Amino acid sequence: MPAITEDTIRELAGFRSGGAPVVSCYLDVDGRRHVRRQDVEAELDHLLRPVRDHEDRDATSTDFAQIERYVRDRLDRSNARALAIFSCAARDLFEVIPLPVPVASRVVINNAPAIGQLEALVQELDRFGVLLVDKQRARMFVFQFGELIDRSELFDAKPRQYDSIGERDLVGYDKAEQHVDELVTQHLRHAAEVAFELFQQDGFERLTVGAPTELAPVIEGLLHPYLRSRLCQSIDVAITAGLADVREAALRVEAEVERAKEAALIGRLRDAVGQGNKGVVGLEATLGSLVERRVDILFVSQGYRDTGWRCERCGYLCHKGPNCPVDGSQMHRVDDVVEEAVDAALGQSCKVEICADNADLDVMGRIGALLRY
Ligand SMILES: [Zn+2]
Repeated sequence: MPAITEDTIRELAGFRSGGAPVVSCYLDVDGRRHVRRQDVEAELDHLLRPVRDHEDRDATSTDFAQIERYVRDRLDRSNARALAIFSCAARDLFEVIPLPVPVASRVVINNAPAIGQLEALVQELDRFGVLLVDKQRARMFVFQFGELIDRSELFDAKPRQYDSIGERDLVGYDKAEQHVDELVTQHLRHAAEVAFELFQQDGFERLTVGAPTELAPVIEGLLHPYLRSRLCQSIDVAITAGLADVREAALRVEAEVERAKEAALIGRLRDAVGQGNKGVVGLEATLGSLVERRVDILFVSQGYRDTGWRCERCGYLCHKGPNCPVDGSQMHRVDDVVEEAVDAALGQSCKVEICADNADLDVMGRIGALLRY
């Protein structure tokens, strides 16, 4: 499976279907919500059911079949909380991108891949630097979207008598220890330089350091100020750890950082609503703000669904129908107006935050928005 990168997105953006329909499917496969594989299949079925009667029914039936086959036979959830699947059987396109972050499940049928949600995720997700050090080794990794994109290793050999100094010569102990300290400090300085080199090459937004307790404050003090300002919580991984363990620990820190960012945004939403200033919560109010194109950031609790109505004439979205309050025409009933809201927000270039397990948002109605005005 290809990792998500800006290249992958550019490739999809440049895909030409020649008029054939392209099925884009964002699927929540998170094991905490969909414990069994059958639960994921049921989720997919729920998504596909309303679009099976699409006007391009014959053209898309192969796409639906290969998406279903993939989810049934080849689903690998070890590295993914969601999948983005793009299928255009007529032009031999079938691409599955595992996503380490939650998404809103949705299916879009259009003449081009619906990449808005992917683009939003890539912009939002930080590049992560991981620096592991001990007294003579340093390993630096850069991850993006859970994938390793760069690495560098450093080994500063210790002098031959290093281990025995101080044990044999108690009189010279202080001097020897000082000498060792100097060597270690020198090594850590090298490690900080390696970290900065990769920063200059790859430009990561966050850095986490894994180091023995006594070395941690030293290495942090030696980091370039640009890197120090990007430090987040430290990581507990041995210097000899395999790449998979490093990656997993990095994803844990990343998830923690994401959660904190999300909590801060939801805090802003709660304050805005409390002050009656540039914030709405609840389905009807949020849909209203979307229709008025006032939304800056749309928040949705993952898995939230509700029925509603859409006006074909003016695009009005609401929870209760059937008549459009704008032009009075008979609206179209939709199975999931929340999905329509996400589509509308992406279409208006709003940011969309899908929040997993955020109790505050759940209490406020599972959907809300910070407004531009
Ligand atoms: Zn209308």
